[in-house]
Amino acid sequence: MIPPFDYQTPKTLKEACDLLWEASGRAKIIAGGTDLVIGLRNGDTRPDLLIDVTSLKELRRIEEDEQTLSIGAAVTHSEIADSLLVRRYGRILSKAVSEIGSPQIRNLGTIGGNIVNASPAADSLPPLLVLNAVGIVSSYEGEREVPIAQLIQGPYQTVLKAHEILVRLSFRKLSKEMRSGFIRLARREAMAIARMSMAIILRQEEGRIKEIRVSPGSIFPAPQRLIEVEDYLTGKVPDEGLFLTASKKVSETMIHRSGIRASTSYKAPVVEALFLRAIRRSLEEEDGTDWS
Ligand SMILES: Cc1cc2nc3c(=O)[nH]c(=O)nc-3n(C[C@H](O)[C@H](O)[C@H](O)COP(=O)(O)OP(=O)(O)OC[C@H]3O[C@@H](n4cnc5c(N)ncnc54)[C@H](O)[C@@H]3O)c2cc1C
Repeated sequence: MIPPFDYQTPKTLKEACDLLWEASGRAKIIAGGTDLVIGLRNGDTRPDLLIDVTSLKELRRIEEDEQTLSIGAAVTHSEIADSLLVRRYGRILSKAVSEIGSPQIRNLGTIGGNIVNASPAADSLPPLLVLNAVGIVSSYEGEREVPIAQLIQGPYQTVLKAHEILVRLSFRKLSKEMRSGFIRLARREAMAIARMSMAIILRQEEGRIKEIRVSPGSIFPAPQRLIEVEDYLTGKVPDEGLFLTASKKVSETMIHRSGIRASTSYKAPVVEALFLRAIRRSLEEEDGTDWS
């Protein structure tokens, strides 16, 4: 049985920050509740107070300025998948969240909850890493920015303090020249969380790869970019031979960083195949931005 707790729905961000500060670590934020309620049921977390952030307007907006796109932490996966702005300027994120769980989970689950829950299998994290996204965090003590790559410390662990709220994430809008590919491998049953995934963004110039960012999902305790693979590919002319060699570097990098484990004989060929599919998909993308 879930122990009793208080439930508050603050109307302003300041009110939410004050409530969290006063609770001195005894409160938890709730957004869609799709992860948190499981933790409450299992007894993994026993807060005295739940603070519902889904009414806070700062957390509910998708906004653009000339250079950046900002997505509120309490925007749901369905809203992101339906957003024309995200499809135009961050298509890879739109694609990734549109495959999360089921329609019911996407209608409730939020991007902020997905990030802060910090599951190694969280589908939004590899796209956010290749988008170089930054989280904007607020609390009684003020506001700070944390790159998403630094926000996650390990499985289910972030650098956020108990009284901090993730307000929004923001990234530089992708230009029309940028191409992207996201591939996820999940179990066959509906609503399966991805076993492994691969996110790639790249830009070509004069027939060569000018810029590339690669991030796999579910292979490291916390999401990481594969800088070794990015450096290897930068400046080269893309072709199948190059991709095959690069795919071997992907699995070598995985083994170098994580060591050989019982799962390596399964994961190494799968991560190579995911990389190949994602990079091919990036190159096939006709226009980096979806204007429809
Ligand atoms: C059946 C099922 C299928 C699923 N499938 C997938 C899948 O395919 N891919 C995937 O990635 N995930 C999946 N999930 C996991 C989950 O739905 C997502 O992680 C979701 O995005 C969590 O968001 P939420 O709003 O429900 O978070 P909540 O459960 O409300 O919160 C999760 C955690 O984040 C904290 N939190 C929430 N918002 C904030 C904020 N603004 N600031 C600070 N802390 C905050 C909470 O305190 C809590 O610790 C699945 C879950 C279920 C139950």
